[in-house]
Amino acid sequence: MRKYDEYVKQMGRVADVYHAVGLMHWDTEIYMPSGGGIFRSRQIGTMTGIAHEMATSTEMGKLLDDVLASDDLSEDERRNAELSKQDYDKQVKLNKEFVEKMASAKSRAFANWTKARSEDNFAIFSDSLEELIKLKRQETEIRGFENEPYDTLLDLYEPGLRTAFLDSTFESAKEQIVPLIQNLTSREQPRKDFLSRKYDKDKQWSFGLEILKSMGYDMSTGRQDISAHPFTISLSPSDVRVTTRIDEHDFLNMTWSCIHEGGHALYEQGLAADQYGLPLGSAASLSIHESQSRLWENHIGRSKVFWEKWFPVLQEKFPDNLIDVTLDEFYKGINTITPNLIRTEADELHYHLHVIVRYEIERACMNGDVEVDALPDLWNTKYKEYLNVDVPSNADGILQDVHWSHGSFGYFPTYSLGSFYAAQFFETAKNSIAGIENQVRDGNYSQLLNWLRTNIHAPGRKYDPEDLCKQVTGEPLNVSYYMDYAKRKFEGVYGS
Ligand code: ZN
Repeated sequence: MRKYDEYVKQMGRVADVYHAVGLMHWDTEIYMPSGGGIFRSRQIGTMTGIAHEMATSTEMGKLLDDVLASDDLSEDERRNAELSKQDYDKQVKLNKEFVEKMASAKSRAFANWTKARSEDNFAIFSDSLEELIKLKRQETEIRGFENEPYDTLLDLYEPGLRTAFLDSTFESAKEQIVPLIQNLTSREQPRKDFLSRKYDKDKQWSFGLEILKSMGYDMSTGRQDISAHPFTISLSPSDVRVTTRIDEHDFLNMTWSCIHEGGHALYEQGLAADQYGLPLGSAASLSIHESQSRLWENHIGRSKVFWEKWFPVLQEKFPDNLIDVTLDEFYKGINTITPNLIRTEADELHYHLHVIVRYEIERACMNGDVEVDALPDLWNTKYKEYLNVDVPSNADGILQDVHWSHGSFGYFPTYSLGSFYAAQFFETAKNSIAGIENQVRDGNYSQLLNWLRTNIHAPGRKYDPEDLCKQVTGEPLNVSYYMDYAKRKFEGVYGS
């Protein structure tokens, strides 16, 4: 047997265990009886431990070295083995004692965060947050870094991403977004009263499913359920599930989550099945994943041509709600720019300011520039400065996101980068697909999906994110594609 084939077999076994854990997570959110939590987290812990042991065993390390020493590897096979070796080295750097210490700190932090948020009391969370920040800084020391510790955390989510790049990208975005928002919010606001009328739950569900299917989401290898927070989970390229939530008085909630999660799911359904368990069969990075959801959500779902097809369908489903609304009013209503406190409810422009606040705070924490007790004030000051909103409570302020209680520092920036990548990818797609606007107007997305499949989905991790971007668009990530799109679009929404 070739060493490479043995490697494929072993990687597949590790993936099997991780996907079984994924199925338990999915079941926890969808079907598990409310009393099942304690044993379920124990089962998830055991299975994750088994997968981790398999992935980091000395046998696996030896096998990877043997594969890399083989002289019969194709280019793709070598790339797989090299990436697996990098992943292996990253995983074995942290010893078991440290991993366990981190895991128990996280579970304490999550419990305290939940309580702190519901009681609107930051003090309940602050000690465990401080502990997590300390452990994360230790982790960066163990892993090593060149310029600053935060770089190491960014790299875990986004290979190659550094603060130097984010500083210039976010500075440029902020300099353009803040005045653009000031300009737009000072104008007359489009009406959006019709969005909070009562939209029947079942009818919303079937409308969302119809859109999802039209995007090319394959129901024979997927399904949709309801959950508190929408998510996508892949159990294999032929079992990729999405969830949504429905609010009868907020029609957009379901719509955006269906299209957004649909974009994530199409990426997973488009990964190469013959690379199951291998780097080339996995997503390139979190930003690239987010670029797929944002491309569908912002550039298709929030566009006028998209609603030329779907608004009449919607009107037919909800005649009473939309009888006094024109397509133009609908389009403008779903694209209003309004200052808000909560990141997950933000419009396309404010969203990035929410992310930039978190980026600056995380970085200050990792550099030891700020004490944990001073964080709520720092948060509120930045919200006033960048978003011009007063934060009325910590529950709706610094305690709003779950990420820090999970120990996820360095994750937030990938959300904004996803939008920036989406704009650049979509610009390239428009230039390579003749008549794409007319296709979207007709509800036909197959050429767009094929383009995404070929250029972005099928390669998996074959290229690092920056190289993928160069490969697809001819240049590295450039925020001006996003800014040009946003200025053009919102000038149209707020213009005459
Ligand atoms: Zn997403």
